[in-house]
Amino acid sequence: MHQTLEALLRAGAEDAVALAAPGRAPLNYRGLRAQIAGTVSTLNTLGVGRGDRVAIVLANGPEMASCFVACASGVASAPLNPAYRAEEFEFYLSDLRAKALIVERGSASPAVAVAERLGVRVLDLVVADGAPAGSFTLVPRDGSAASTPTADGGEAQPGDVSMVLHTSGTTSRPKIVPLSQANLAASAQHIRDTLQLTPADGGLNVMPLFHIHGLIAGVLAPLSAGSRIFCTPGFDALKFFGWMDEAAPTWYTAVPTMHQAILGRARRNAEVIARHPLRFLRSSSSSMPPQVIRELEEVFGAPLIEAYGMTEATHQMACNPLPPAVRKPGSVGPAAGPEIAIMDEHGTLLPRGAVGEIVIRGPNVTAGYESNPKANAEAFTNGWFRTGDQGTLDAEGYVTITGRLKEIINRGGEKISPREIDEILMDHPAVAQVVCFGMPHPKLGEEVAAAVVPREGQQPSERELQDFVAARVADFKVPKRILFMAEIPKGATGKLQRIGMAAKLGLGG
Ligand code: ATP
Ligand code: MG
Repeated sequence: MHQTLEALLRAGAEDAVALAAPGRAPLNYRGLRAQIAGTVSTLNTLGVGRGDRVAIVLANGPEMASCFVACASGVASAPLNPAYRAEEFEFYLSDLRAKALIVERGSASPAVAVAERLGVRVLDLVVADGAPAGSFTLVPRDGSAASTPTADGGEAQPGDVSMVLHTSGTTSRPKIVPLSQANLAASAQHIRDTLQLTPADGGLNVMPLFHIHGLIAGVLAPLSAGSRIFCTPGFDALKFFGWMDEAAPTWYTAVPTMHQAILGRARRNAEVIARHPLRFLRSSSSSMPPQVIRELEEVFGAPLIEAYGMTEATHQMACNPLPPAVRKPGSVGPAAGPEIAIMDEHGTLLPRGAVGEIVIRGPNVTAGYESNPKANAEAFTNGWFRTGDQGTLDAEGYVTITGRLKEIINRGGEKISPREIDEILMDHPAVAQVVCFGMPHPKLGEEVAAAVVPREGQQPSERELQDFVAARVADFKVPKRILFMAEIPKGATGKLQRIGMAAKLGLGG
C-alpha cells in the first residue's frame, strides 16, 4: 500500500489523459506530474514547505483539482468553499493557520482582503491562453519574488499533514480535521479497489472540490488508478448530459440531491445515456432513498453503488460492492477501507444485529481533531473513532445506518429516528423529497415535523400524508406539522441539515 501521494500517483501512463474539462485540451500524466513538481517547488521557493497550510479558494474545475493534488503532495492543502463570505474566511483562514492563499488571478473574493489583513500571503493562479486543463503558474500578488526564506521542501513523509478540512457542520460547529499523506493515500486506494477503477475508466466530476467526497472519490482515487477525470465547473443538472456526451465517462459520483436532479432529466436524455453506457453510478454523503436507486438503475441500465463516508475517515468507510457481489438496498454495504464495529454508550462492542454507534479504525482515519481535546476525548474510545452515526451490522457485515445520534428526535423521552419517517413518506406517490426533523414543543421538548417537496403536478395535503404515516407506525411518530416547499434549504455542501431546520422554516427553536 502506497503511503504518500507521490507514490500513489505513479500509476498513470505518461501519455494517458489525467485531466480534461469542457472545451479544453486535456492534460496527460506527464503534464500533471510536471505541474505537481513545479507547484511544490514554487511554493518552497516562496517559503511554504512541508506541513505549511495553503488555503485554496478556486472555482471548481481542472485547476482546482491539480492545485489540490499539488499542495496535498508537497505541503498541506486546505480547500475552502469559494461561496464563503468575509466572516467565514476570517474564521477558516485563522482556524487553519494558513500560510498562503491561492486564488484566481484578479479574483475579488473576500478571502483576499481577509488574508491580507491576517498577513497570509496571497498567490494568484494564472492560466495561460490555450493551456491544457489543469496547468497553471503561481504568482505572488504583492509582486515580490521571495520575501520569505526558501522553505526546505524535502520528501513528504506518510505522517505529514496533507490536507486540512473542516467537517460539514451538520450537527455542530465545523471541526478541523487534519489528514495525513498516509490517510489520503489509503483512502484513494480503498475507493479505487472497491470501484475496480482501471486506466480505461473515465470519471465525470460534478462534486465540489472543497469537500472530502469530490477531493478523494472524484479526483484522487481515479488518479491513483491512472484513469481520466473530466472536471466540470460544478453540478448543473441542465448541463449534465451535454458533459456526458463530451466526456464519454464510465462512471460518476454524486450526493443524493444531485442524483435526484439528474434523474428528473434522465428520460428525455435517453439517447445520451445509450451512447455512453456507464459501468456504475456512485452515491455518498447522505442517505439515498431506495426508490431513487431503483429508478436510476433502470434509466441508466447500470448499478448504483451507495457508499458511506465522512471527513474524519478521509471519505469512504463502507460501500456496496459491484455486481456480481450482492448489493443490499437500505444498506451502505460492508466495510470498504477501515474496520467497522458497533459500540454501546459505555464503550462495549456489540454483537452482529445489535443497534449502536458505528465506530471505525484503520489507515484512513484521522489521528484526531486539531486543538480540540474535548472533541477527541468524546470521539475516541479504546482506539476506535466514534462516527456519531447510529447503525447495525448484519450477519454478512453489511452496515445499515439508522440515524445520527444527534438528530434523534426526543419527544418527551420517546426517541424517534427522523430517517424512519422520511423513508415512509418517500413511499407516497406524491412525495419527491422529504426531510423530517424535531421542532420545539413546550411540554414534550420536541415534536416531529416534516418538510416535503411534492412531485411535479402533485398537491398532497398535510392530512393525507399524516394518515399515510399513521397507517404504518405508532401515532407518536407522525409529523404534527408538514410544510410544503419547492426546495428544502441545504448546507454549503448540499446536505440537508435537520438540526436548525425548525428555526430555518419558522417553526421556532
Ligand atoms: P458535522 O460532523 O460537522 O456535523 P457532517 O458529519 O455532515 O458534519 P461530513 O463529514 O461531511 O460532515 O459527513 C459525514 C456524515 O454524513 C456521516 O457521519 C453520515 O452521518 C453522513 N453520511 C455519509 N454517507 C452517508 C450515506 N451513504 N447514508 C447516510 N448517511 C451518510
Ligand atoms: Mg460528522
